[in-house]
Amino acid sequence: MSAYEAVIGLEVHVQLKTASKLFCSCPNQFGAAPNSHVCEVCAGLPGALPVPNHQAIHYAVLVGLATGCRINQRSVFARKNYFYPDLPSGYQISQFDLPLCEHGQITIEVGGQEKKIGITRIHMENDAGKNIHSIGDNTSFVDLNRAGTPLVEIVSEPDMRSAEEAVSYLKTLYGIVTYLGVCDGNMEEGSFRCDANVSIRPLGSTELGTRTELKNVNSFRNVQRAIEVEIARQQDLLEDGESVVQETRLYDAERNITAAMRSKEEAHDYRYFPDPDLLPVVISDSEMEAWRKEIPELPRARLRRFVALTGLPEPEAELLVQNRELADFFENAAKLANARKVANFIIGPMSREANAQGLALNPGQWSMSAEHLAELVNVVDEGTISNKIANDIFGELLRTGESPKSYIESHKLAQISDASALAGLVDSIIQANPKEAEALAGGKTKLVGFFVGQIMRASKGKANPALVNDLLKQKLHF
Ligand code: ADP
Ligand code: MG
Ligand code: ZN
Repeated sequence: MSAYEAVIGLEVHVQLKTASKLFCSCPNQFGAAPNSHVCEVCAGLPGALPVPNHQAIHYAVLVGLATGCRINQRSVFARKNYFYPDLPSGYQISQFDLPLCEHGQITIEVGGQEKKIGITRIHMENDAGKNIHSIGDNTSFVDLNRAGTPLVEIVSEPDMRSAEEAVSYLKTLYGIVTYLGVCDGNMEEGSFRCDANVSIRPLGSTELGTRTELKNVNSFRNVQRAIEVEIARQQDLLEDGESVVQETRLYDAERNITAAMRSKEEAHDYRYFPDPDLLPVVISDSEMEAWRKEIPELPRARLRRFVALTGLPEPEAELLVQNRELADFFENAAKLANARKVANFIIGPMSREANAQGLALNPGQWSMSAEHLAELVNVVDEGTISNKIANDIFGELLRTGESPKSYIESHKLAQISDASALAGLVDSIIQANPKEAEALAGGKTKLVGFFVGQIMRASKGKANPALVNDLLKQKLHF
């Protein structure tokens, strides 16, 4: 990037997890048969009147509060006029002059360095339907199930300077809205979508360069790649003495290029005006007070607390706050067993086994309870089973949800910690290795490991290693 610096601002659309749509009582539900959740209002029939969903306003305010925004207790819905087949009314109901939330800020982290990113505004709007194009029979279909789904659009200041910062910002926002429980976070289904505005300028310049807008890049990885190739493309243009055209571009993940889609429309093209069918949104002081109290501990605060609790370095502990359910799970288990050991079990065997079983690292996906994880950590701590056996049986426990204690008992996995039960085994290994035994007795203590290894193997990992050590010392007098 040498002589240039990138400038990035993001517009994020978050679908709110309400039971019904924003202005009608149709179910807000993904994946139903096409056009099965449609009424006069979300189909945009003339004369049908919208009624705002109070739960959606509540959720949007939570997002504003969690991102440090000022909440406008009086905001206004506006019509954004444009024509497209998935928008039967010919306008989207959004907010323009008076959005619900403004002037926020969130803290992101890149390479161990914290940075604050400004949030310009957060407004509410309804989603459009979906056009489905069938190339085979050269036909297009319109599915209006999504039409009217409540969204918040979170608009950032152009404060990011690299693709990494943009991804970190997105992940931070994602953590916030999923911890709040206002979004299901399903990116494949479009619940969390992002448009990236990208420009470059000579290093040291304070003016903004001409930007392009990359539409609907649908995974963290693709956001990173799309921004990187777009920065490189703009840089090539400037170095060749050409200029960047302000336009909307689409990212093609397969070819890893961005391609022009349409020239950029300006706000005045949309002929915004206050929606005459809707009263201003007014939020009372008592509602504000009640909602403020609902903000849970957010991922960054939780991470800092877990780092203190476990003594793990931040990059390792980060996995524990990946989702709120996992963080709760860790915290519940850590009340009943050594917190650091619980964390290590989640970071190690639990992520490995969840992955092997094709599960997300989320306790909703498996049968093991936090109490059982704690029980497993404790039986290892007490020496009932070795760490290795705990590792070996972890996948099975995760899948079945069986109590570790009863599993260990029914599979006879408890360590042999009884000297008389182990003595015979120790003797037979000594007899089978007379030369090594003589050397060890003669002071070659390096061979302790060799004997312990043999005995552990012969006992299928069940011998108590400390006891084996003691027995060897007794018998060979080293
Ligand atoms: P719209 O895209 O709807 O016209 P805005 O003008 O409010 O809306 O800008 C949208 C986003 O573009 C914001 O996130 C803003 O930070 C970002 N942005 C604006 N100018 C630039 C620029 N020159 N370079 C990069 N991002 C920019
Ligand atoms: Mg835009
Ligand atoms: Zn409807």
